[in-house]
Amino acid sequence: MPLTLYAGVTPLGTLTYEDMDWPRYYFRFEPNPEFETFRQILDLRGSPTATEANMTAADGLDLSVVAEDGERTRMSFIFIDGKSAVIRQGFLKHVTPPYHDQFWRVLEEEVGPETCRQQGCARLKMRLSVFCKRHHFQMVMGE
Ligand SMILES: [Zn+2]
Repeated sequence: MPLTLYAGVTPLGTLTYEDMDWPRYYFRFEPNPEFETFRQILDLRGSPTATEANMTAADGLDLSVVAEDGERTRMSFIFIDGKSAVIRQGFLKHVTPPYHDQFWRVLEEEVGPETCRQQGCARLKMRLSVFCKRHHFQMVMGE
């Protein structure tokens, strides 16, 4: 179910959820023509961090995502890299349920020595699970 990214009342494009690795949520981004006006601020082209100038500029944009059911979630920043977008937990004003944070915090460290059972995952497993934190979380949460 795609989300629509807005700056104020301007729709900038659609976001389709692809994956998460807490605290990051990954989306595929399909920009509207209107996005060009905002590309300089939001499209960071692979940069892992937003500069002070990016953040200040984004503060004025009134960014939000709107789900198909009309629910709007405000956020302070979104990282866009061409067709990919990342929203960090800390940049959401309120969206993911608080139990996500709580659950993630009590997960053990990935100690191995075996790797995660999930096909293609190279991370080490937690002591009491056959999965890494990320895949254990996804399995339990069904997300
Ligand atoms: Zn894994």
